Amino acid sequence: MKEIAMNRKKSIHMSNREFRKYGHAVIDWIADYYDNVEQYSVKSQAKPGDIKTSLEKNPPESGEPMHNILEDIDSLIMPGITHWQSPKFFGYFPTNTSGPSILADLISSGLGVNGMLWETSPACTELETHVLDWLATMLNFPDHFMSQNEGGGVIQDTASSASLCAMIAAREKKNNGNSNLFGCREHLTAYVSSQTHASIEKAAMVAGVGSKNVKLIDVNIDFSMNIPSLKKQIIKDAKDGYIPFFVCATIGTTSSNAIDSVYEIGKICDEYKLWMHVDAAMAGTATLCPEYQYMHKGLEYADSYTFNPHKWMLTNFDCSCLFIKNRDELISALRIMPEYLNNQSSKSGEVIDYRDWQIPLGRRFRSLKLWTVIRYYGIEGLQNYVRHHINIAQQFLSWVKSDERFEIMAPAPLNLICFRAKGSDKLNKDLLNYINNSGEIYITHTRLNDLFTLRLCVGQTHTDVNHVKEAWGLIKSGFEKNKG
Ligand code: PLP
Repeated sequence: MKEIAMNRKKSIHMSNREFRKYGHAVIDWIADYYDNVEQYSVKSQAKPGDIKTSLEKNPPESGEPMHNILEDIDSLIMPGITHWQSPKFFGYFPTNTSGPSILADLISSGLGVNGMLWETSPACTELETHVLDWLATMLNFPDHFMSQNEGGGVIQDTASSASLCAMIAAREKKNNGNSNLFGCREHLTAYVSSQTHASIEKAAMVAGVGSKNVKLIDVNIDFSMNIPSLKKQIIKDAKDGYIPFFVCATIGTTSSNAIDSVYEIGKICDEYKLWMHVDAAMAGTATLCPEYQYMHKGLEYADSYTFNPHKWMLTNFDCSCLFIKNRDELISALRIMPEYLNNQSSKSGEVIDYRDWQIPLGRRFRSLKLWTVIRYYGIEGLQNYVRHHINIAQQFLSWVKSDERFEIMAPAPLNLICFRAKGSDKLNKDLLNYINNSGEIYITHTRLNDLFTLRLCVGQTHTDVNHVKEAWGLIKSGFEKNKG
């Protein structure tokens, strides 16, 4: 009787009717947001604590109507949003998205599956394997990265996680799976350039290699890794009793989009039996176009490769692809098999269980959005979009080059332009603040050759030449106002 009485009580859950109603409203909200996104200040003008202090101090005792919550998103949350999806967002590297990706991700949320094992949703696993094979073909990878051979691809949350997995696999390969033994990690050394992303150092910290065992190799004038220095350091370390095991080559460094020679680094890795990991987090997307596939020369030497469709390939965050030459090397490094996960399909050896290809156990159905994006745009559509961004960036480059008040700080073969106003660091810092405080556009900075440098990266889905023109106008007027 008590049970029946409880069942009669109003459900605490959202009914399907209400879900449908607010679902439509939310899609309308997102479409309106995109219609109006250019009217927002690109960089949030919130000060530290502004958002937190505007929120209710305590959680509500009873549930609230959905429309109240949606209203509060407008009034309380939006002031603290930096608009990464504004076509005038030129900061960092992009994290772009697209309608097809968002819709597919919504379906993934609706399905709410956890694809930790093949058994827990076969489509989640098989679509992922298939789409990553598609990508391997689209990016013109060597065949060994394909699942029908010894390798294959897996979707991770971020490039940082992908690189960590690669480093753990490399560590176990070097130590024949015995890295837990005393003294087996202290002498492992990894090699990066001074321009490599800090996620590799973090991977070394997490993997027990230690950041002190990450050797920084100097760079050439174009900020690519200096190959003779790499070789010299490896030889010296081996002589000093260290155990070189891992090199990261970058295609598109974060500061300046420098491109390491995968071929030259690969030859060294081959000679000294080192794992070569390639980090192409953003610039990897450019290799959808045959004219940029030169950056992949030497990829046959790579043991692993990562790039983020969530940066520049119209697939919303998070979606980072890790390709591996020999999947057994990754799986054996990360495999666990507690009884509660035991199942016939896994035992049969006929299926992939992606929980063995990553750090966490659980995993989202991310391949759905990637599959949807590739099908919606097609290879041609994606190539044209990449070329369009690069063309626009190159126009910006030509304007900066032809203005004697400014200088270009690094080669710019793709969509990132590094430049500065001729003058002091202070002038450039003031210029950056002026630009970003205006709210009109958003750019970020780095330091190159020890000079404060401005970076403008073209990568948001809807960025067009008028947006870059506007940016250049603002930069020039900012210079006039701040030059003193
Ligand atoms: N590698 C490079 C070259 C990057 O530029 C970045 C981020 O911008 C990363 C790795 C880290 O990416 P994630 O945020 O996916 O870990």
